[in-house]
Amino acid sequence: MLKSISNALSKVFGGNKQDHQDAIEDSEIITSVNKRLITEDEHQIPRRHLDDNALKVAYRLQDAGFEGYLVGGCIRDLLLNKRPKDFDVATDAHPEEAAELFRRGRLIGRRFKLVHVRFGRDLIEVATFRASHDSQSEESSGEQGKQCDSGMILRDNVYGTIEDDALRRDFTVNALYYCPKDHCVYDFANGYEDLKKGVLRMIGNPEARYKEDPVRMLRAARFAAKLNFSIDSASEEPISELAPMLKRIAPARLFDEALKLFQSGHAIQSYQQLQRLDLFEPLFPQVQRLLQSDQLDMPIEKLIENALKNTDRRLAQRKSVTPAFLFAAILWYPTQQLMQKLIRDNKMPPLPALHEAANQVIAEQVRSTAIPRRFSTPIREIWEMQLRLPRRHGNKAARLMEQPRFRAAYDLLLLREQSGEDLGGLSQWWTDFQNADENAREKMSRNQNNGKSSKPRRSRRRKPSKKNNEQVNHDG
Ligand code: ATP
Ligand code: MG
Repeated sequence: MLKSISNALSKVFGGNKQDHQDAIEDSEIITSVNKRLITEDEHQIPRRHLDDNALKVAYRLQDAGFEGYLVGGCIRDLLLNKRPKDFDVATDAHPEEAAELFRRGRLIGRRFKLVHVRFGRDLIEVATFRASHDSQSEESSGEQGKQCDSGMILRDNVYGTIEDDALRRDFTVNALYYCPKDHCVYDFANGYEDLKKGVLRMIGNPEARYKEDPVRMLRAARFAAKLNFSIDSASEEPISELAPMLKRIAPARLFDEALKLFQSGHAIQSYQQLQRLDLFEPLFPQVQRLLQSDQLDMPIEKLIENALKNTDRRLAQRKSVTPAFLFAAILWYPTQQLMQKLIRDNKMPPLPALHEAANQVIAEQVRSTAIPRRFSTPIREIWEMQLRLPRRHGNKAARLMEQPRFRAAYDLLLLREQSGEDLGGLSQWWTDFQNADENAREKMSRNQNNGKSSKPRRSRRRKPSKKNNEQVNHDG
């Protein structure tokens, strides 16, 4: 056991002997790799809070002669009295061996092989203990494990012991194992103490670990937001500088991470952490450019914050949220700015200008985070509706309300005005219209007289500027 820990550590802390020594002197991790058992009396995780299906999987593995533990975020969350999002199982069985034990087990992944065991809608992920990419091991430099020049891990199928596995995890609080046999929590990285202190600490040398997988920086921001933890200074320090490494991550993975950041109920705190750590830029470069431009007369930051608060509120009320709305809000002003430019410089009419701007903004965004087509089409529709909502005369309003994207478009309109855009009280008109009976609706539509007579009223929040007034006449 000691040998494998020392091998794992020498890799985690880098090959240089002096670095290794410094890290050992600075780090609390070395003194705490010794296994510590936290008994049920101490940790007090109520057994009824453990997921039945995850327990079934762990028992099945143990009955077949393997090890099986509940591990990671689920144990961290249970210790913090939070409801885990999902339950993961760790085992010494190789993925192929584990898959054979379960009728509904499926081997998935290439870069990181796993077994998914399905129980109706519930999914338990079974991962084999990983070891570090130790150069002495045959596995690490060939088929099973692969690292590129920058240190990024390209393939991670080098297997090891539970101690190796603990050191391969990201934060100490994510490296806690629950054994369903003795009901103890096994701690190899001092995670239990960090959890009590509310500290996120990267296991091993933070810089090397972020280089191995830059997504760990986003995870730091997300857990700090979700758990209201502080990030240990040594773990926080390299992040700003390494943030651009996120540009090398597959856009599809960054899209998933963006959803975890913004659709898990802590969106506003996540956004603040991302900004604080310079991690928002690699996710939304064109939005960040606009946020930093000092000539911009659009309430971009307010709109993003309001959209995120709105998402948190909806989730707290158990209402649905869609990535289409979120991305439509976050990318609204870059699209607006480009559209205005196309109208001004290329003399394009508003609708084609919007279509062209939408194409360009989405094309640039998908180089950072993917946007699957099932979301990019509704995003365009929500934007297009922003141009159509000012036209309310005759039976146009009633017809607009029947559009599948009406609700989301109306929500974006509300957010725009709440954030300070001057639309002459358009969102209030739509609120009243939806609440009105048929007679009142008819009267409201008649009063619109082609939608061009309604004079923009002054926004209560912002002084009207020339630019804002120009923006009102989208319906030309
Ligand atoms: P949550 O499910 O609440 O988002 P989590 O910590 O469970 O948080 P998962 O993505 O479900 O996150 O991963 C499960 C566990 O796998 C983590 O707790 C951690 O131990 C390990 N892990 C996940 N991603 C990484 C990574 N990029 N680097 C190292 N370890 C990781
Ligand atoms: Mg999890």
